[in-house]
Amino acid sequence: MHELSIAEAIAHKVRERAGGRSVSAVAIRVGHFRQAVPDALQFCWTMVTDGTGLEGCRLEIEQVPATVRCLDCDTVTTLDVPILVCGSCGESNVTLLTGEEFMVVSLEILEV
Ligand SMILES: [Zn+2]
Repeated sequence: MHELSIAEAIAHKVRERAGGRSVSAVAIRVGHFRQAVPDALQFCWTMVTDGTGLEGCRLEIEQVPATVRCLDCDTVTTLDVPILVCGSCGESNVTLLTGEEFMVVSLEILEV
């Protein structure tokens, strides 16, 4: 499952950053183009963290819409489907502005 590999990647990054400290919440940013379903991602997150040091850690998902800028008419379009076309003139001469993000934004560390 696609979300499973994303969840594993997040857990890996979180462990790296936390350096053994307890983490109560993780905020991530995922671009629309990543095609990650939030519910499925939450489910996978629970699965990969269950029984580990990250068990019970909350996952906060911020979804970033996919936007493109048209090189012909300079219109910025928010894409509903992952097809790179301009919403104004229909040309595919566009550059991707956002939508491919996948990053851990912040960690909430439990002070002990
Ligand atoms: Zn255009």
